[in-house]
Amino acid sequence: MKNSPSEGGEGFEFSPVEGLTTDLDQMTHEQVEQAALTAKKLRDMADAQLLIATAAMHRRDSARVTHGLTTAGWLRRHCRMSASKASGTVKAAKALTHMDAVRKRAIAGEITADGVRQLCLARDMHPEAFLVHQDVFADVAAYLSPRDLRQAIDHWRQQVDQASAVADAQHRRRRRSVFLSRTLSGMWDLNGMLDPESGHIINAAITSVTDPTLIDPHDNRSNPQRRSDALTDICRFWLDHNGSTKMTGGERPHITVTLDYDTLVSGTSSEGLLPEIDGTPIDPATTRRLTCDSGIVRIVSDSDGQPLDVGRRVRTAPPAIRRALDHRDGGCTWAGCDAPSSWCDAHHLIHWADGGATSVGNMRLLCRRHHTMIHDGKVPPDP
Ligand SMILES: [Zn+2]
Ligand SMILES: [Zn+2]
Repeated sequence: MKNSPSEGGEGFEFSPVEGLTTDLDQMTHEQVEQAALTAKKLRDMADAQLLIATAAMHRRDSARVTHGLTTAGWLRRHCRMSASKASGTVKAAKALTHMDAVRKRAIAGEITADGVRQLCLARDMHPEAFLVHQDVFADVAAYLSPRDLRQAIDHWRQQVDQASAVADAQHRRRRRSVFLSRTLSGMWDLNGMLDPESGHIINAAITSVTDPTLIDPHDNRSNPQRRSDALTDICRFWLDHNGSTKMTGGERPHITVTLDYDTLVSGTSSEGLLPEIDGTPIDPATTRRLTCDSGIVRIVSDSDGQPLDVGRRVRTAPPAIRRALDHRDGGCTWAGCDAPSSWCDAHHLIHWADGGATSVGNMRLLCRRHHTMIHDGKVPPDP
């Protein structure tokens, strides 16, 4: 990689990279890595120069003199920065003029642009205390990862100003929120912010279900799909196992699928309509899986759909059979799966709607994923 002076400026010198002129295919792995490192270092060095030049512009108010703009406005227009990036750059530029040790190392490309920005923010929070510890920060920022540097700054802030550290933590916790809403297509939109403790707990719970060491090679779900399934499994586990969950209508709240008997047996209703969960159509395989292990309420209706007779809710796998299955199978029976029985459904080998008996002989435990796969027509591997 060669450096050459720019031709663009009168009265100053600047050395941008001419670019990589060597054929990449002719380079060794080490040389390619070195080229990437050099390019990154030059970018950090250039970023430091941008801050220094911006500070000089700001000091002289030159953007106003030449273009009638603020420094941030000038950056937005001429450097095509977003509003937040431009104002952040001006802030960092001003802070850096008071940070000799950091500036020197930034010019040398020893502190990354990200590190410089973090230190500038730290300095803005406690300018006097930062001055005292500046040399230490300049040293550690040269080798810490962005995350570790942020943590070091957090610890330093806590020592310097405990009251605002506590207020910050409280503010973070107040921002916690979860939004869950049904979209027009029947899908659900989930988003929000978690406070540090809740984030760790939920992350640990989801990770315990999606642990990469548990992935079987035939699992072709994407990672986001696996996380979605994990969250559903965790919530279902809670509904299945928490005896104190508030009852609605004498039942623990799960989901309700409404369908007519023909649909269940043949997969299509006489009117050609799909079964629905709360108004959203679901496919026949999902219907068969959901009814395979669930509570069933028989409702006999007249031709206008008015209920004539409502039966008792009956479990497709009564507690005694379920206990026997737990004892016999001990968990998911799909070869190679270690899901414990508490995560499993009781699957009918021959569906009860097709005349299959609800008996230990006709049933086996399957975790939610393998239960779904079986009803999708997948064949379990040989044990
Ligand atoms: Zn089943
Ligand atoms: Zn399984």
